[in-house]
Amino acid sequence: MTVDVVGIPVQNVTMEEAVRDAAAFLDGAEPKIIVTPNAEILQLCVEDARIKEIIRGADYIIPDGIGVVRAAKMLGTPMKGKVAGCELGWNLLPEITRRGKRLFLLGAKPGVAQAAADKMKAQYPDLIICGVRDGYFKEDDEVIESIRAARADALYVCLGVPKQEKWMVKHRDRLGVKLMIGLGGSLDVYAGNIKRAPKLFIKLGLEWLYRLIKEPWRIKRMMKLPVFFVSVRKYKKERKRGETE
Ligand code: UDP
Repeated sequence: MTVDVVGIPVQNVTMEEAVRDAAAFLDGAEPKIIVTPNAEILQLCVEDARIKEIIRGADYIIPDGIGVVRAAKMLGTPMKGKVAGCELGWNLLPEITRRGKRLFLLGAKPGVAQAAADKMKAQYPDLIICGVRDGYFKEDDEVIESIRAARADALYVCLGVPKQEKWMVKHRDRLGVKLMIGLGGSLDVYAGNIKRAPKLFIKLGLEWLYRLIKEPWRIKRMMKLPVFFVSVRKYKKERKRGETE
């Protein structure tokens, strides 16, 4: 079941359900794309029709953040809760391991993907990481070839938004993978370069505040949050009048 948030069909699922669905994609025939938009990214979709189409082109869209969940509630269609992309990527590891599937990590600065792979292997020694590659490449073809040659089943694409979404949609049929997930800065988190907020912040819905204290340059992006709620209210009114599709 999905919930319409400013024209984007967002999955109304718990973390367990998202892990189950993502794992099922690994066993499927077609390459599937999972995207993990937060409120800032949904606001980008409101502002840019091309980005909206790319996000809508994904097979499975999860609510990464409390802002998306609040928006769903404002629209009269409350959701089960947020499903953080970064956590989904981690929680999927035992499923990938159990199935004997092969994971490729793409993105972040040189060395980060390998450090993330090391952390993953430390917790799941039987996990097959068939390749890693940093996210600062010029030629797509060469990267696509290394993913194909590694015979990857799952691909974590961590190039930042909207670059990673564009990349996944553009190359989905050439990669030979079953599942791709756009995970932004998650490799930095897995590698231990960025600490997640303390549990109390997360519980109070204040993870954004913690991140702002740690990375003050994010203020410009975060200013999109109040703007997003204005968009949500506007969308609600338009929908009432039957102006949205
Ligand atoms: N990145 C990359 N290639 C690029 C630009 C960015 O691999 O050309 C990486 C960057 O190093 C970081 C991630 O993409 O690891 C983006 O992180 P951020 O937290 O900004 O993600 P977002 O908030 O966009 O999900």
